[in-house]
Amino acid sequence: MLSGDIERGCVYKHVLIGGCSYDCAYCSFPSRKQKVHNPERTALRILETARKYGFRGIFLTSTMGDDPEKAMDLIIDTAECIRNFYRGYLHLKILPGASRSQIKTAVTYGDRVSINLEAPNGGRLSELSSMKDFRTDIIKRQRWIREEIERCGGKVTQTTQMVVGAGDETDLEIIESAYRAYRDMKMARVYYSRFIPLKNSRLENRNAESRERIRMLYRLDALIRLYGYSWREIQRVFDEKGNLLRDDPKFILARRIDIKTAGFRDLLRVPGIGIRHAEKIMKERGKRSLGLKDLKNMGVNIKKARAFISGFQRTLDEFC
Ligand code: SF4
Repeated sequence: MLSGDIERGCVYKHVLIGGCSYDCAYCSFPSRKQKVHNPERTALRILETARKYGFRGIFLTSTMGDDPEKAMDLIIDTAECIRNFYRGYLHLKILPGASRSQIKTAVTYGDRVSINLEAPNGGRLSELSSMKDFRTDIIKRQRWIREEIERCGGKVTQTTQMVVGAGDETDLEIIESAYRAYRDMKMARVYYSRFIPLKNSRLENRNAESRERIRMLYRLDALIRLYGYSWREIQRVFDEKGNLLRDDPKFILARRIDIKTAGFRDLLRVPGIGIRHAEKIMKERGKRSLGLKDLKNMGVNIKKARAFISGFQRTLDEFC
C-alpha cells in the first residue's frame, strides 16, 4: 500500500484524456482522435507520480474525449486499478451524461465524486455549451450521486464547481444555484472558479473575472454552508440587479445579541465570532460572566464584534 506516502502534501490531479469533442466557450481542449489508454499502466504511473512528489491524494478527471461513455469507463477502470494498491484519498470526476451504473461504481471507489455545474442554470449553460443539458446531463446525475452515496452509508462526499464570469450571470443566480446544491444534493462544497480567458477558446478576448468577486462569493457561501443562514436572510446582501453589495455579507446580516443568553446560531451572526468561538462562549458562560477580555482570549475579533454584543461583564479596562 502506498497510502502512507501519499497522505502528505496536496492532491495530485491527473487528466486522463487531453482532447474533447465538446464546445464549452471558455475551454481550449482541442477536438482530436484519442489514443487508447491502458488503465493499469496509467494507474501505476499516477501512483508513482503521487508517491514521488508526496501528494496527499489523487484526483482523477478527464475531458469528454471523442466518446463520453468510454471516457467515464476509463476513469472507473483506472480507479479500480488504483484501488488495488492504494487506500488513500481518491476523488473521481463524473462526466455529464454518465450512466447510473457508472455512477454507482464510481461511488464505491471514490472518497469524493463531483460533476461540475459550470453555470448556475440551464439558460446560462446553453450560452456556453451547445452539448450539455443542465437538467438531464448534470442535475439528474447529481441526484443519482446523492442517492448512491446515501445507499452506501454517506461516507463519500459530493462537490461541484461553477465557472464565474464566463457569462453574464449575476451573483444572485450563482448563489441561488449553490444554495439549491447544498439543500437538495447535500453537496459538501461548491467551488467558484474564476474565469480566465484561454488562448484558442471562443472567449479568448473576454476579460478575466475579478478575484474580489470570487472572494465575496466564498464569504457568502460560508454563511450558507457553515452558519446555516436561510435563503430569506441572504437575499438582503444583493442589490436590485442581483449583484452582491460591496460590504462584507456577515456585517450586512449582523444582529445585536446578548452574550449571556444568545443561542449558538445567534452568536454566529456576530461579525468576528466563528464556530469555534461560539462553542467556547456557550461552554464558558455557564461557569462565569464573560468580559470583553475573555472574549478576546477566546480569539473573538473584538474590533468587529464589539458593536453587536451586549450583556458582557464590564471591567475597569473596558471603561478606560
Ligand atoms: S469544459 Fe470539459 S466538456 Fe467542455 S470542452 Fe472543455 S473539456 Fe470538454
